Amino acid sequence: NQQILLASRPEGEATASNFKLVTTDTPALRDGQVLVRHHYLSLDPYMRGRMSDAKSYAAPQALGEVMIGGTVGEVVESRHPKFAPGDKVVGMGGWQDYAVVDAAQPGVLSKVQAGDGPGQVPLSHYLGAAGMPGVTAWYGLVKIIEPKPGQTVTVSAASGAVGSAYGALAKARGCRVVGIAGGKEKCDYVVNDLGFDACIDYKQYTDAGSLSKALKAACPDGIHGHFENVGGMVLDAVLSRINAHGRIALCGMIAGYNGAPVPLTYPQLLLTQRIRLEGFIVSEHMEVWPEALKELVGLVASGKLRPRETVASGLAAAPEAFLGMLKGRNFGKQLVKLV
Ligand code: NDP
Repeated sequence: NQQILLASRPEGEATASNFKLVTTDTPALRDGQVLVRHHYLSLDPYMRGRMSDAKSYAAPQALGEVMIGGTVGEVVESRHPKFAPGDKVVGMGGWQDYAVVDAAQPGVLSKVQAGDGPGQVPLSHYLGAAGMPGVTAWYGLVKIIEPKPGQTVTVSAASGAVGSAYGALAKARGCRVVGIAGGKEKCDYVVNDLGFDACIDYKQYTDAGSLSKALKAACPDGIHGHFENVGGMVLDAVLSRINAHGRIALCGMIAGYNGAPVPLTYPQLLLTQRIRLEGFIVSEHMEVWPEALKELVGLVASGKLRPRETVASGLAAAPEAFLGMLKGRNFGKQLVKLV
């Protein structure tokens, strides 16, 4: 079994030397355990936070342990009555080809219906639109922004795993949805494939003032709700266009994950526009997951949400793919295809 361990904590930018690839034997199963062969590993921005021991909402990942991570795969051996070889499962198996899972613990392993045919959800999408990133978009939109039909909602990192699901969910609620993403190719995809009403390429702008003008043109009624994934210039520009009593779901600040500061230039706009801004962590809201997943699985199965994926090949490629994602090199959900 190949595994990737956290070898050291990054100082500033994370690098490949923070990771270590090892090969181990898979232990024999005890009662209640299941052996899962991973098909895909999910690479997510939150992992950068776990690599560090700075104060956060979750404990840091221990040094010398297998990197934490969401996985989908297939049961190959089972000593648990509810799981049988061949079952497709989603869990937190970590950066490794195989995982021994204590399946008796509630919620650690879930069976899923997966397939590549019409009306089906491909297995990998349970790590993206039909999984944690999708539920994240759902929570911020439905529980924090609470848009009404016809209102304008925006999202940064619009082509990504969370952003793409957000667009489909907002369209399903009759909103005008405007994305912000890096580069023409991503923006074209956001509008043409994901069905956003408009998308602004923030890389065309060097300051919040000019980005704000582009937002004004794309959001003639102003912005009623915004979902923030990045921080910095994008958030500044959105704040300059947000309507009175607008809402902001503060989901991520990826611009700062490698240690760079993400200043907010005009925080007084939060006051003068009487904004409700709420940070949230999706894993603290397990109560919404069934309802959110039902809608998201439906959107994917019906073809209304066609999420894009960037797939690295083999476990050894995971560190570079992860570091690339932290620089925006991914296009859609970043995955690693395993054995
Ligand atoms: P994405 O698939 O969106 O990938 C990250 C994207 O961020 C990049 O592709 C890049 O797109 C964009 N980006 C913008 N600015 C920067 C920058 N300065 N440096 C690097 N990337 C940048 O990732 P996810 O959809 O998985 O996650 C999106 C956000 O949601 C993250 O901030 C993540 O931490 C957060 N999140 C929060 C959760 C919660 O519970 N609060 C749960 C899950 C995710 P582009 O090229 O368009 O700039």
